[in-house]
Amino acid sequence: MEFLKNPSQPGPPEDGQIITTRFDKVLGWARKYSQFVYPFVTACCGMEYMSVASSHYDLDRFGTAFPRFSPRQSDVIWVVGTISHKLAPLLKRIYDQMTEPKWVIAIGACASCGGPYDNYATVQGIGTIIPVDIYVAGCPPRPEAIIEGVVKLQKMILESKQMWKVGAP
Ligand code: SF4
Repeated sequence: MEFLKNPSQPGPPEDGQIITTRFDKVLGWARKYSQFVYPFVTACCGMEYMSVASSHYDLDRFGTAFPRFSPRQSDVIWVVGTISHKLAPLLKRIYDQMTEPKWVIAIGACASCGGPYDNYATVQGIGTIIPVDIYVAGCPPRPEAIIEGVVKLQKMILESKQMWKVGAP
């Protein structure tokens, strides 16, 4: 957004100041502070999720504190913990049911790449099932690392050109 002096309009509003911007910028700015997060929490990284969701870390600062437990009311999914092949179709279905535009954060080594579980039962990263926007490293990641991921996602949302999608998937 840019503040400009408008010499042809002295008087209100406020010394003739006007604001110029683009609609997608305003939409992105509003969206980055109103994320409706679906927490898909499966394993020990969940302890860090509980920690970062506590008042000490104050996720309200980023407009991301209020979890939703219906994918139809969510536009961001946090995948936290190990994903087994048995669970994979469920994750995909929840992602498909979320509103557009939507974003994905993979939190922790398991969600990002399978972590220590290089075996037949574990998905080797949720990127093989759904598109991931942000990866947060760690086993488990510290709350500060998760917050860094949230801030990076906010930047991504602000710069997103995606306005809305016509027609449900
Ligand atoms: S990344 Fe580590 S802490 Fe997180 S779910 Fe996997 S094994 Fe547990």
